[in-house]
Amino acid sequence: PQPDLDLAALVRTIPDFPKPGIQFRDITTLIGHAAGFAESVRRLSARAETYRPDFIVAVEARGFLFGAAMASAMGLGVVPVRKAGKLPGVTIGVDYELEYGVDRLELHEGAVEAGHRVVLVDDLLATGGTILATAELMRAAGAEVAAALFVIDLPDLGGARRLNEAGLPCETLIAFD
Ligand code: IMP
Repeated sequence: PQPDLDLAALVRTIPDFPKPGIQFRDITTLIGHAAGFAESVRRLSARAETYRPDFIVAVEARGFLFGAAMASAMGLGVVPVRKAGKLPGVTIGVDYELEYGVDRLELHEGAVEAGHRVVLVDDLLATGGTILATAELMRAAGAEVAAALFVIDLPDLGGARRLNEAGLPCETLIAFD
């Protein structure tokens, strides 16, 4: 473990992606750094353990990278939540609002059982829309959502406040203004 490792310094910022004015926080440089990736997964897993989950639920696509590694480290299975049309089996889905338009997230029917406790994982928390939709999907499947974990928080976009208002505990490793 490297508790002093500065994870924020390993995240690259790309201006004007995917459109002008957006500062994209790029985790590919963090996961490409062996110690940075290991330490990210270790910190996330340590927090996830406190919720005693039955499964880790990972959100497409960057959430898969962290969620899969966490689940393996914790001795748990990982359940993917995907964009519409990607999962091959019978799915349940939820529509959610984007800045422009709507999107849809899906879960395999039976992937989580009623009464299972899950921890949700994604790379980054912005407005909170994606993770709140994921939480809704879990509850539709009968699972109990213990918490949502992220590597990065963008506090200016208000996601943590929205999750707090919705009663969903959330934890993040680093924040960018
Ligand atoms: P939210 O739904 O507004 O909280 O947006 C979070 C979702 O958008 C997550 O799935 C992120 O992967 C993605 N996202 C938004 N901004 C960024 C960014 O700057 N870097 C990486 N992912 C981002």
